[in-house]
Amino acid sequence: MKENLLNTSIDYLKGVGPNRAEILKKEFQIFTYIDLLNFFPFRYIDRTKFYNIDEIQKSIADVQIIGKFTDLYYFKNIKSNRLIGTFKNGNDTIEIVWFKGTKWIEKSIKLNIDYVLYGKPNWYLNNFSIAHPELDLISEFTKKQIKGLLPIYSSNERVLSRGITNKFFREVIFNILKQSSDCLKENLSKEINEKHSLISKQQAYKNIHFPTNHMLLSKAEFRLKYEEFFYLQLEFLMSNIFKKSKFKGFNFSKVGKSFNKFYNQHLSFSLTNAQKKVVKEIRKDFSSNAQMNRLLQGDVGSGKTIVALLSSLIAIDNDFQVCFLAPTEILAQQHYNSLNDSLKKININVNILTGSSSKRDRIKLFSDLNNGEINILVGTHAVLEDNVKFKNLGFVIIDEQHKFGVAQRSKLWKKNINPPHVLVMTATPIPRTLAMTVYGDLDISIIDELPPGRKPVKTVHRSDRNRLEIFKFLKDEIRKGRQVYIVYPLIEESKKMDYKDLMDGYESITREFPNNEYQLSILHGRMKSEDKAFEMKRFKDGKTNIMVSTTVIEVGVNIPNASVMVIESSEKFGLSQLHQLRGRVGRGSENSYCILMTSNKLSSDARKRIKTMTSTNDGFKVAEVDMEIRGPGNLLGTQQSGLLNLKIANIITDKEILESARHDAEKIISNDQKLIKIENKLIKEGYNKKTKNTLLWKYIS
Ligand code: ADP
Ligand code: MG
Repeated sequence: MKENLLNTSIDYLKGVGPNRAEILKKEFQIFTYIDLLNFFPFRYIDRTKFYNIDEIQKSIADVQIIGKFTDLYYFKNIKSNRLIGTFKNGNDTIEIVWFKGTKWIEKSIKLNIDYVLYGKPNWYLNNFSIAHPELDLISEFTKKQIKGLLPIYSSNERVLSRGITNKFFREVIFNILKQSSDCLKENLSKEINEKHSLISKQQAYKNIHFPTNHMLLSKAEFRLKYEEFFYLQLEFLMSNIFKKSKFKGFNFSKVGKSFNKFYNQHLSFSLTNAQKKVVKEIRKDFSSNAQMNRLLQGDVGSGKTIVALLSSLIAIDNDFQVCFLAPTEILAQQHYNSLNDSLKKININVNILTGSSSKRDRIKLFSDLNNGEINILVGTHAVLEDNVKFKNLGFVIIDEQHKFGVAQRSKLWKKNINPPHVLVMTATPIPRTLAMTVYGDLDISIIDELPPGRKPVKTVHRSDRNRLEIFKFLKDEIRKGRQVYIVYPLIEESKKMDYKDLMDGYESITREFPNNEYQLSILHGRMKSEDKAFEMKRFKDGKTNIMVSTTVIEVGVNIPNASVMVIESSEKFGLSQLHQLRGRVGRGSENSYCILMTSNKLSSDARKRIKTMTSTNDGFKVAEVDMEIRGPGNLLGTQQSGLLNLKIANIITDKEILESARHDAEKIISNDQKLIKIENKLIKEGYNKKTKNTLLWKYIS
């Protein structure tokens, strides 16, 4: 019963009223008492410390002093009429100034009585002064809620104009805390509380709004952040269990002929240990009776495709079909070519469906797919359409998964009676903490090792005045038999304007690399798909030396002989794009280079991006910096970022808390999957309360 108090609408809260209630709902999504309690201050003013006047320094932002006014007088000149007070503490005095409301202030200030004064010191004409300070009689001060650290809440003009000030928040929140102190029930186990020396929930709420001191504030923050992460992780783990019990997975019990034949006779290299480990993880999922939802993370060039191929063969050995989804036509084509080349030797039938597949091809393909002729269908979004029907789809691979939305992926689930196993692959590494927060309900495999013999791509930063030197370098590389990419930024493929850079660039490159000596390819999004495929093939076959292109080659393209990547106006690219582009080279055993061209004027973010690129080749490190610069929400760019509505915890700065909350949640679930043990009772209650409105889409990988 008592807990319901926290769910009371703010309409009923003293001091709010219908107008303010409406604006609080609209501006801050504050509907109930608990929403107000969860509206955390974003900073605090320290009212614990008192200064003596002689301690004031320029570096101090605000000071609080106890003292008396010994004098109060007007200072008039042509410009202004100021009220000036002399404020004395010990043997020192400081000038206090008012420009506005002087009459009222003059009347209300009493001389020679102790005040607590709080304000910002200004250094002017070799003296400190304080303008418009906050003043409280010392007798009043002790009664008010401004002991300790004073909370400051977010605000904007719209709410301020309705009197929703810091003072307002302090008062209403103080009120709720007073009424509801026994409603804030513990929701973590004794073991967790002890392990992390957590303060009680009630103490945490009190101290996050009205911290008695810095230590209690830190403890309150820790407790609330921990709790937020803990329940998020618990939800992921539980939904994972739920999925596994609800959605029966196809059982691929045998590793059969095709897998063994390919592995033993046609695999031209040996797998890295990391690849072997991942194949094992997938095999285990395949025969677990539960549907697999696995995210495969691996840096560019780490060899994810072969893992996908081998897993596909297991599906095929168990009489299931495979669908391999790629974000772009070029990539789909590339996967199709390489799978087809590898697999036709063992009689596996691979086909491709993209937006530009002809009607005639489609008719044949649809029927082959439906009667099980086709073992692997590679394709773009086109394969999601309802008329694409498999005979027995058992395994779906989604390459560069961040390019697909949840809704699109869910379509694949419906293409068989039971949902197929799903492997999503991403070459844009997501920082571990972000993966844990957003894909916490996927199992994660990581390839953390590059195939042997790879040399790191040497990355350098150059500008226009280095052009001649760069051209010479490119010619030397080409002479050695290598190939070169030159990429131009294209913000939106549809905008005509953007092609100017590419075309101007192409022209100047043709001048520098005349066609009696050099062969050039050009590639951009507006070309017809057969022209794109033609150019790609020429480059892949080594018939052209330079590929001038937009970012259509960004993801996945694999041409090991290409050794130089020149990125024009690289300051215009995001970090993950730069890393992806760089990943197009360094795929063979030769030395390879990435040249980042920029103008001379760079924003500080751009400078940081370039510096990151020139200092590391590690995609996970790049991703960390990217997350710092852009924030976790932008990094994902999909609906999932909604999941990042964390109220207090921050996945960048509170990494350690996240890790330990995850760890604790895992431990609890592994010992007590249904949370029925008595020691987990409070956690179960907390969990049930939080998940009342869980959305179904979370069950879709
Ligand atoms: P990505 O992980 O970026 O998708 P790919 O799967 O395209 O990488 O692999 C990059 C290149 O590395 C390909 O040419 C592939 O044949 C090669 N490769 C993959 N695994 C190995 C390995 N274990 N040993 C040697 N080369 C490998
Ligand atoms: Mg790839």
